[in-house]
Amino acid sequence: MTQPPLTPSASAGPCTGPVPRTPEARAVAGVPTGRSVAARITAIYAAVAGAWILFSDWILTDLARSVHQVTLFQALNGAVFVVATSALLYALVRGYAGRLSGLVARARISEACVRHVIESVPDLLYTRELPDLRVTFISPNVTAALGFEPEDFMDDPRLWRDQLHEADRDRVTAEIREQLEDKGAFTIEYRLWHRDGVTTRWFCDNGRLEAAGASRCFGVLTDITDRKETESTLHYLTNHDPLTGLLNQHGVGLILDNLLQIARRRNTGLSCLCLGIDRFSHLNDAFGHKAGDEILVRVGQYLREELRASDVISRVPDGILARAGGGRFLAVLLDTGVDGARALAERALEGLDRVVVHYGEDRIRIGARVGIVGLPAHGGDAVQILSQAENALHRARGGAGGPVHVYDASEEREDALAARWLDRIHAALDKRRFVLHFQPILHLPTWSVHHYEVLVRMREPDGTLVPPTRFIPIAERFGVIDRIDYQVLEMAIDYLRRLGGARPDIRLAVNLSGVHVGDTRLLAWLRTRLESAAVDGARLIFEITETAAVEDLQQARILMDSLRALGCRFALDDFGIGFTSFIHLRALPVDLIKIDGSFIRNLDTSAEDRALVQAITKVAKAYHKEVVAECVENERILALLRRYEVDYVQGFHIGRPVAMSPERAAGGQ
Ligand code: C2E
Ligand code: CA
Ligand code: CA
Repeated sequence: MTQPPLTPSASAGPCTGPVPRTPEARAVAGVPTGRSVAARITAIYAAVAGAWILFSDWILTDLARSVHQVTLFQALNGAVFVVATSALLYALVRGYAGRLSGLVARARISEACVRHVIESVPDLLYTRELPDLRVTFISPNVTAALGFEPEDFMDDPRLWRDQLHEADRDRVTAEIREQLEDKGAFTIEYRLWHRDGVTTRWFCDNGRLEAAGASRCFGVLTDITDRKETESTLHYLTNHDPLTGLLNQHGVGLILDNLLQIARRRNTGLSCLCLGIDRFSHLNDAFGHKAGDEILVRVGQYLREELRASDVISRVPDGILARAGGGRFLAVLLDTGVDGARALAERALEGLDRVVVHYGEDRIRIGARVGIVGLPAHGGDAVQILSQAENALHRARGGAGGPVHVYDASEEREDALAARWLDRIHAALDKRRFVLHFQPILHLPTWSVHHYEVLVRMREPDGTLVPPTRFIPIAERFGVIDRIDYQVLEMAIDYLRRLGGARPDIRLAVNLSGVHVGDTRLLAWLRTRLESAAVDGARLIFEITETAAVEDLQQARILMDSLRALGCRFALDDFGIGFTSFIHLRALPVDLIKIDGSFIRNLDTSAEDRALVQAITKVAKAYHKEVVAECVENERILALLRRYEVDYVQGFHIGRPVAMSPERAAGGQ
């Protein structure tokens, strides 16, 4: 904001400064001085008196007839002279005095106006003297803004400098001088301490020299504290997670870019850790968002303390911690190689094992995994490193190599490939290019087919069909699997709707990924879908792998119970490979056990497999579960399974998965 420089008259305040420059002020500037008034009066008096003295004697001498008359005329002349000059003096002095008092009145009005203007603007107006920028005038509202009286600044020439915030002090005086030298004016923002010594206020200072080369500056200080506070709140919010007070992904990215440069310059190590809370979204769903928040805050606090206490960080104070969203945290360790980071991660996980979050009646235990990435040998920016750390976390979650995974350069190519697959999956989802195939499941006691397994394929733009083994693992790793499952389920329900009452015996077995264990959205979604399609829930069987169900038995039970309430049934898929087996059969409300194909494929040649399949069938039946054998590829295997009293068989020998229209299905083909 630029304002016309203002300076009050001498009587407007403690200012001893220059004459005001308003129009009224300029009029006051035209007031004749005492000496010029005196000179004018004297000159007029001298002219009139001189003329009288010169000419009156001649006139009187001409008129006088005698000496007596001369004496009389001279006496008269003297008297007239005194009266006339007195009248003249009176007129002159009165005229000038009247003009003077008019000017003084106008000056008073203009002075009052200036004072009013100064007091009514919220900004502080000032004058300062170079070279030390000493304040020579400042408007009275400085008291409201900073707690000082204007006189305090006049009395103490160093006051303004002393009140400058330490972080601004050197910068401000140097910049003001530089800008004044450059262009005779300056604009600068800085903080001034309040007299209370506790608070500071931000000001924007706009000043300029009275004239080129002058030593006096006029200026305006505008209080910009509110704007600065809003700016800093915005800055904080864009870089921090409001829940934990830690940096967020954006904030850590900014800092990491700097740390990368430092590490490369110093030629020292740097590593980045990505810690993910196990099944965080499920904890959130199961215990509610408040409990989820509580978990995040506790884990954030724990990690902060752990990093502070750790050898790695105490040696290097530059470790930073951030919450990356969801249940993931990021830590960047400067001067620390991947070995140091791994040691820290293992210690942190061990400690986290002992952290229990009390939420109402619940005591929630927290498990986590960590992905680690070191400083890339060639290039690599913050975005790349953070995404590699996330990929390492995915690997820690998916792999069998323990809860800590260190990213390896060879994984980079793999990840790039996976990213391309991910794009193809998203495109197929958006354009609804997934297609369903159906594989018959034969009921051995009745030798009839009433149920089919639904197997998804991805159709590429050129028409080729991609098998699920190519894209399901990537979809699972990158969290797209639930979108696929929902779309498949939607298509399966639509298939049953179009089938109508033609084949009421047909049931579809749909594969459900492990991510749905704890998915609280599924129940309501499914209920609405079934209702709007007028399809009975009893026509759906969900296949969920044994490993996924056993990983979180409690949540798996909740999911199964809730969907069973709609009439749906459950099959435990790939049974036998998890070796966690039998005891869980009792705990889980499943109707069918699907023995994994790897035990069936060689059944005719492997005595071990035969023993195992027989044992599984016996135990399952003891728990009143029906048994399905998959991957039945020949007649011999089929005969063995009939002997073991397996209930259902599925495999290429019975029928390959095929795209089947409801009409064909209705025709019984
Ligand atoms: P799965 O659930 O164990 O499905 C059985 C797989 O074995 C299917 O492979 C099927 O084509 C194949 N198969 C059936 N009979 C035979 C046989 O006699 N011999 C041999 N060698 N293989 C046989 P597919 O269709 O490639 O599916 C592979 C896996 O992909 C499935 O294993 C399942 O885990 C997953 N998947 C398929 N569709 C979906 C889906 O809609 N959602 C989810 N989440 N996963 C799915
Ligand atoms: Ca299956
Ligand atoms: Ca299976």
